[in-house]
Amino acid sequence: MSTPTTFQRPAHWPRGFLIDAAIRCPSCRSHQSVMVRTDSWARFTAAGTDVCDGPDYTPESAAVCGNCHHTGQLTHFTDFPLHDRLPETAQFRVTWAADGHAPTSVWPDVAAADLDDAREIARSYWPGISAALTDDALTVTVEEPDVPGLIDAVRDELLWTLGPPTFTC
Ligand SMILES: [Zn+2]
Repeated sequence: MSTPTTFQRPAHWPRGFLIDAAIRCPSCRSHQSVMVRTDSWARFTAAGTDVCDGPDYTPESAAVCGNCHHTGQLTHFTDFPLHDRLPETAQFRVTWAADGHAPTSVWPDVAAADLDDAREIARSYWPGISAALTDDALTVTVEEPDVPGLIDAVRDELLWTLGPPTFTC
């Protein structure tokens, strides 16, 4: 019998604030090159201007990838919904690989608090996992199913939080 592989966050996965922002260029997949147009307030000083508030931005702010020059709204450069408002209840879905052939586990009526927990579990494994919110479903997708232990770690955490999925299709 083989021992299950313990998940370890790959060294090349982004860290820190990049995890909260879940920034990824939709065109070239770069995590490191995305810029957003921001608003800020600056104080005039003898040396020039001194930013004292901001930078502020919204999901609709203009963004550009410095690597491939792809442009669009910031919301299109994130793997998790920004400033997201979760519905009272929604379906929670996990697609176990992004290749279109993997099964999807479904929890049909998940309350907002559990949905939030499930989303934060998924976000802690970004960029191995992405998420998309629609009116009635939060769908997370395992983007890097080949990372050792990733699927088992995510499945264990979700089972602990939500119980077993109602069905898998
Ligand atoms: Zn790019």
